[in-house]
Amino acid sequence: MARRTASRRVGLDQNQERNLADLLIDHLIVPTFVIDGDCRVVMWNRACERLTQLKATEVLNTRSHWKAFYLEERPCLADLVAMGRYSEIETFFKDWDGFELTDFGVSLETTCPMPRLGRQMSLALDAGPIYDDSGFLLAVVQTLRDVTAQKEAQHALQHLAARDGLTDLLNRRSFDLSLSTELRRCEREGLPLSLLMIDIDQFKLFNDQFGHVAGDNCLKTVAYAIRGVLRSRDAAARYGGEEFAIVLPGTPREGAEALAERVRVAVEHLGINHPGSSANVVTLSIGCSTGHEVNLLPQDLISSADAALYASKRGGRNRTTFAQAYSSSVILF
Ligand code: GH3
Ligand code: MG
Ligand code: MG
Repeated sequence: MARRTASRRVGLDQNQERNLADLLIDHLIVPTFVIDGDCRVVMWNRACERLTQLKATEVLNTRSHWKAFYLEERPCLADLVAMGRYSEIETFFKDWDGFELTDFGVSLETTCPMPRLGRQMSLALDAGPIYDDSGFLLAVVQTLRDVTAQKEAQHALQHLAARDGLTDLLNRRSFDLSLSTELRRCEREGLPLSLLMIDIDQFKLFNDQFGHVAGDNCLKTVAYAIRGVLRSRDAAARYGGEEFAIVLPGTPREGAEALAERVRVAVEHLGINHPGSSANVVTLSIGCSTGHEVNLLPQDLISSADAALYASKRGGRNRTTFAQAYSSSVILF
């Protein structure tokens, strides 16, 4: 009680103090709204109006503040805090980032459809409860910060770090990560995983004949064709130079065989002129391995697919070979 008196401004009575607090929140540069313990909006400041394009008059004394952010009725972060439903935050904010729960409340970043704006917005949200001296919930204050530009920059950087600059396929580092992650996931779910190692045939001769710029364009075209035949769960990478690798989670040998053939035929049918190759067009040699065994190591699959790839080369190129290797620790089939 003594603290509350001390915080009051000298010369203001309680009403004036209340008016000043309302004015301060209304003019705050940070978009802010306040709900009471029944989740009714009691304040919706100007910055919040600007950010959401929803007028205070439309939401004050209602529970329809969700309309500012979502297409369908659902709790906002402030509502979950007001109702003490902290355990449901993850359910309602599946895409959350930077979640933090402190004595001051909850903070997280999320993406909202923002119906009035007609475009998505990434928002940093802070929702803090206010209690009276006896611990009764008076209100929840929620502040909003538009972090769309930062998020886009962050995604662009992540994309750059994960992708090969020439082909836009995953780079080697992302491939290693994807293979080990998917391998563990398939192991947990009792699913097979297949790996294709792919190498362009006689590519040195292609460069020698047409030059490196044409070689680079050929790599881009081949990568585009590879991407075109993959399913959304497959991950294609530039493994190195003129070599590609494709991780096929949940795919048994027959599925991998069909996909490898589609990749090979798609590139052959591009018809990229290549007099140094026996088919006279750019072709691929492919090696495939499939694993379905606990504790299988990424390196085991790579080595087997690599050995199969070189069998394709020895067998005359422009073909797919399956790993037949068996070892004491892995079963490849
Ligand atoms: P094979 O059928 O046995 O695979 O023969 P190859 O000529 O394709 O194999 P080799 O390993 O002898 O040569 C690979 C060539 O790929 C050599 C290199 O100049 C070329 N290459 C690797 N990376 C790039 C690249 O980024 N751009 C271009 N233009 N060429 C590349
Ligand atoms: Mg090679
Ligand atoms: Mg090659």
